[in-house]
Amino acid sequence: MLIKDCLFCKIIIGEIPCCKVYENEKILAFKDINPVAKVHVLIIPKIHIENTGQRKYIDTLGELLLSTDAIAKKLNILESGYRIITNKGKDAGQIIDHIHLHLIGGEPLNPLN
Ligand code: AMP
Ligand code: ZN
Repeated sequence: MLIKDCLFCKIIIGEIPCCKVYENEKILAFKDINPVAKVHVLIIPKIHIENTGQRKYIDTLGELLLSTDAIAKKLNILESGYRIITNKGKDAGQIIDHIHLHLIGGEPLNPLN
């Protein structure tokens, strides 16, 4: 379920500290250590899933997406809006192999193109 050498698994068990903003039975959300916008939160499942693509994790992956409004509400950006990004693999720049959503907002964001 959790992996010994995974940074985010270590955050889940409290071995590495984080600035927690939201938590429920299945997911944890905390501030990104290197924010790219006024609000930049990472949302991770409490089990180690490398990335998308495995149907057996459909409930947990759904939980991640369902959590974003509650987290945005807590951060007072539900009305102003936010962006969700997930990086998969080398070209996207995924550096931590424990799936995570970046929730970004708190100010107008640059268009994607
Ligand atoms: P990614 O490139 O999608 O794998 O994103 C990994 C994210 O994790 C980056 O935005 C980092 O700034 C962030 N990060 C790395 N270590 C920590 C940490 N200890 N606490 C919070 N965020 C972290
Ligand atoms: Zn992990």
